[in-house]
Amino acid sequence: MRRLPLASAKDVRAWIVATARTNRREFGLMIGLYCLATVIGLVGPQLLGRLVDSVLRGTTTTQVDVLAGAFLVVLLVQAAFKKAARFRARVFGERVLAHNREQFVASALTLPLGTIEAAGTGDLLSRSTTDIGRIDHAVRNAAPEILVAAVSVVFTVAAMLVTSPLLTAGLLVAVPPLVIANTWYQRRIGPAMQWMLNRWGDVQSDLHESVEGARTAEALGRIERRVSSGRAALGGAMDAERRMRRMQMWWLPWLEISYILPIAVILVLSSVAYGKGWVGLGTITTVLLYVQAMTAPLNDALFWLEDLQVSLASLRRVLGVQPSPLVTNREVPRGRDIEVDDVRFGYTEGREVLHGIDLRVPRGQRLAVVGPSGAGKSTLGRLLAGIAAPTSGSVRIGGTEVSSLADDILRGEVLLLTQEHHVFSGTLRENLTLPVRRDGQAWSDDELLRALDTVGASAWVGRLSDGLDTRLGTGAQAVPAAMAQQLALARVVLADPHTLVLDEATSLLDTGSARELERSLNGVLEGRTVIAIAHRLHTAAAADRVAVVEGGRITELGSHAELLAADGPYAALVRAAS
Ligand code: ATP
Repeated sequence: MRRLPLASAKDVRAWIVATARTNRREFGLMIGLYCLATVIGLVGPQLLGRLVDSVLRGTTTTQVDVLAGAFLVVLLVQAAFKKAARFRARVFGERVLAHNREQFVASALTLPLGTIEAAGTGDLLSRSTTDIGRIDHAVRNAAPEILVAAVSVVFTVAAMLVTSPLLTAGLLVAVPPLVIANTWYQRRIGPAMQWMLNRWGDVQSDLHESVEGARTAEALGRIERRVSSGRAALGGAMDAERRMRRMQMWWLPWLEISYILPIAVILVLSSVAYGKGWVGLGTITTVLLYVQAMTAPLNDALFWLEDLQVSLASLRRVLGVQPSPLVTNREVPRGRDIEVDDVRFGYTEGREVLHGIDLRVPRGQRLAVVGPSGAGKSTLGRLLAGIAAPTSGSVRIGGTEVSSLADDILRGEVLLLTQEHHVFSGTLRENLTLPVRRDGQAWSDDELLRALDTVGASAWVGRLSDGLDTRLGTGAQAVPAAMAQQLALARVVLADPHTLVLDEATSLLDTGSARELERSLNGVLEGRTVIAIAHRLHTAAAADRVAVVEGGRITELGSHAELLAADGPYAALVRAAS
């Protein structure tokens, strides 16, 4: 499976800088408030230091009360500023998230269908849910908390330096364990987290596939296989989690040591300095309170650091979904004939599925594509509909390469109709108007009703309580499979492509519904070029020509009668079917 790409660490940095720059005001306000809260908090230990000195010198209760009162006021003001800062952090976070989500959806919608299919929808799904959720959590909580910790540490160290440079020197003892442990950890944690997120992505893809294909797996007795594949995916994720936790188990104690060690060293330094008369008890109290005050934000930062790191790895996955470069070729094909020349194609490197296909389909012809399962019929259909581009060779309509056409132009030329028809949660009108009208105007009710009539859906629509405004899908009006397919057909009528590729469009329906749908289909096919990937051979008999695909090659091409007379692979297929 070809995963969707990952953004580089440089892209993530650029995104963070750009986000801070775009939301300059919110970001500045948030940082400003955090800095103010921290600076105000620094006054507290100074007051307590003074209190100790004044008690030693001999003081009045009034002076103690004033200092204690001032200390209380400082605490209250700091709490108020912290609250305001946290509120601004949430506002900033929400803004970033809204933008992030919108950008992700916009980018995902431009991804070529072939790219999503190659990566598996699960990958996209896990990026749009789990990964965005992790970023969401980090932007709301981890990032502000770590920011508070960083700001607190910088200001507290500065205040310590002003109070007593000698005692502050005790902090240096934390540098060697911090540098060694962090260098070791940071080098390994990035790849380990990415590995873990990819494994969780696999779990989600596997789960998604199992749920999507549950009925097929059950029908084919493949439940056990799906269960063991789910177990394998979970096992991979658990291994990746364990590997990451082991690294953290090694790293975290070193961090703890690096902020406990300075307290011990500063205590020893203080006793020596006090003995020599270099510092007073008030200064020692202030410095120790500062060191102590750093512990809480550092603890918080440690707690949130993992979330932040995971979310940075998630950010690489989310930013990896970049908008596909817009197709700049706005050329409209000048004819309707289809020409396929020496087309080769493979889903994965080194495994070619189509091995040099040549085919001409003149305008208005009906071509049936038949052949054994796995021969490459659907793959050929996807290339004809421009969903994937050939690895080599060319597929042209009216002389223009199909895969280079802009989406809106392509859909007016050729459409692929498969057996899967999704009904979107929304009104019948919204479900019908997915194809954009060529002149960009809104579809009129008349046009929509006419399209429904062409596919034989008028009676069903007539029974709906709110007509075109009836809500369909989950929790609203249920749409039977045959109706869902008729809606898809009505969309085809509206898009009005001159060529249709039908990939077993009726094969999932029971015979009665399939017959009915084929009647609706006939109305739609009128006057169009049709390439029908035929499951039921009777469809092939009605076509103008039949192409037999075997092992990724067209092995026979001719009318039903010609191929029967030739007594080759087609005649063998017909004999086998009857
Ligand atoms: P069927 O009648 O069973 O649908 P088909 O003739 O339409 O078969 P294709 O679906 O085109 O055959 O498949 C041709 C080959 O390409 C098969 O070997 C199949 O396993 C492989 N293939 C199809 N889709 C993919 C995919 N998304 N990724 C990788 N390989 C694929």
